[in-house]
Amino acid sequence: MPVFDFHTHTTISDGHAAPLEMARRCQQNGYAAYVCSDHVDEATVERRVPEIVAACLLASRELGMASIPAVEVTRVPPERVARVAARARSLGAQLVVVHGETLGDYPQPGLNLAAARCPDVDILGHPGLITDEAAEAARENHIHLEISAAGLHGLTNGHVARVAIRLGVELVLDSDAHRPEALLTAERANQVLRGSGIDLATVLKIAADAPLRVLARRGIELPT
Ligand SMILES: [Zn+2]
Ligand SMILES: [Zn+2]
Repeated sequence: MPVFDFHTHTTISDGHAAPLEMARRCQQNGYAAYVCSDHVDEATVERRVPEIVAACLLASRELGMASIPAVEVTRVPPERVARVAARARSLGAQLVVVHGETLGDYPQPGLNLAAARCPDVDILGHPGLITDEAAEAARENHIHLEISAAGLHGLTNGHVARVAIRLGVELVLDSDAHRPEALLTAERANQVLRGSGIDLATVLKIAADAPLRVLARRGIELPT
């Protein structure tokens, strides 16, 4: 089964490897596509999105691998998340992840809800102790909630999974890798999802079907 992963970082922001190196490891690990989703905020969106777009073009050309430019809107105040997400999209980001209210950060009350209400957002990343209200808004706006394979961000995976399954919100699994070794493999994906308390049938749905819905919502087609 191909591996999907919408959340990875490179030297364009705070990652430790160049985009091409990350893409190469994705290819080795059986990824269906390489998604480069470096951090952007109001100060960096203008210069980083064109860099991400260029890096994805290079990865496609060099490796013959589908490469999708994306962003992670990070540490932007709730009232300005929608503006940065829209700007990233207009500059060429095809997918938008928002850095949610993870336990690992200083609190940004209202951030999950603001992201979940924003039609330009595709994935609410590591949403911590997400409330029912934010999860329901995500469901209404077809935004996927993230199960995270990254240490601190993954602490609340069990909570996120329980809320999402109870309320019928879609889930995706992402690595949030900042170095090649942290990228997913099929085995690791299965471990993180099962470890989040998710039953096998739902794990298979998250691994195979949910990522295709993320792509289809934006009209992104992968070569078969
Ligand atoms: Zn993040
Ligand atoms: Zn991240």
